[in-house]
Amino acid sequence: MEKSKIIIFQKKPRLTDKKYSFTIGGTLLNHVTCYNYLGLTISASGQFDLAIKHLTDKARRAYYTIRKSLFKFNPPIKLWLKIFDSIIKPILLYGCEIWGPKFKLNYTSWDKRPTEMFHLEFCKNILGLHRNAPSLGCRAELGRFPLLAEIQKRTAKFWFHLSDTRTDDYHHCALMYRTGHPESDPTHYLVEKHQLSSTIQLRHAKVKEIVKLTQEEYIYDWQVKVEQINKLKYFYRLKTGYQLAPYLIKIKDYSKRKLLTKYRLSDHRLCVETGRHKHSWRERECVCVCVCVCTGRHKHSWRERELRLCPHCTERLVEDELHFLTHCSKYEHIRDNYFTQIAQIVPEFRQASDIDKLSYILGEKEKCVQLAAQYVSSCHIMRDKN
Ligand SMILES: [Zn+2]
Repeated sequence: MEKSKIIIFQKKPRLTDKKYSFTIGGTLLNHVTCYNYLGLTISASGQFDLAIKHLTDKARRAYYTIRKSLFKFNPPIKLWLKIFDSIIKPILLYGCEIWGPKFKLNYTSWDKRPTEMFHLEFCKNILGLHRNAPSLGCRAELGRFPLLAEIQKRTAKFWFHLSDTRTDDYHHCALMYRTGHPESDPTHYLVEKHQLSSTIQLRHAKVKEIVKLTQEEYIYDWQVKVEQINKLKYFYRLKTGYQLAPYLIKIKDYSKRKLLTKYRLSDHRLCVETGRHKHSWRERECVCVCVCVCTGRHKHSWRERELRLCPHCTERLVEDELHFLTHCSKYEHIRDNYFTQIAQIVPEFRQASDIDKLSYILGEKEKCVQLAAQYVSSCHIMRDKN
């Protein structure tokens, strides 16, 4: 009796125990607006937002518990990805065949959903980046796709499973009903786009094809978006393919690897990033005491990119990755040393333009990733000294 509850499905969920009463053997049953059934939270509104939130919380707890005990061993990136896919993802995507299809293939809005936000949090966490680091860059660095792609695959498999059941079975009937009412069927777009009604022999190939096509479409979407992000202009030039960056596997030292990622993805403290906002003192003369005292001290205003100059040399140039790693006179002696060493391994480095040199010194060329990590780390330490 403790576990039995009454849930009444309605557009605006409210408790209706005054209106209707249900009893078992004379005992009155409690009304609820949500109920955890077989691990999935069912809401009276018929929406799955609460279920998604609960699954995300559960997955996040699982990840941070594992992280707490494993972090000190510095597990390789590939192991973290495996842990995510085999332990965390099954929790996060539990029941996604039911709640997932309604998100369709809109990656922009999907990135703001709790499920993908946690996936991105995980990616940034294992890369050692700040939560505001550019999401599109972080996923690309690990060669990962939004989880929506996985949901597509699982939904297609589930759709095939439902259509295989006996014709008098209730979920077969439900599927048939949905086919007849495409406007209320969240899988309609998937069925139409990939023509899911293929024969049993072809289904395995069909699922594979859906995965491949979804990934290709995402990469195209990614390229269009990344090209327009100013913060990722150097990253876009140096990233050669949508895959796990080889330097992430090759460099075992956590802090050196993290630094390289930070400079690749503009998650650093160079003036081009930190100098975005001008702060100046403001007299606190407004009426509202609370606002004036707490938040009104500083005037924030935007500073143009061209004005975010390097304070470490006299060249009056913007302190961005290019200036910091190839120009700035402050690091000249470190640069001479490492550039000579890199040129010995890859002779074409000498002729490369400054911007092309970034591929070598930011770990994109496999032959010199270790030197690249040492060079970036030395410059970074030198910059922090003063
Ligand atoms: Zn400089």
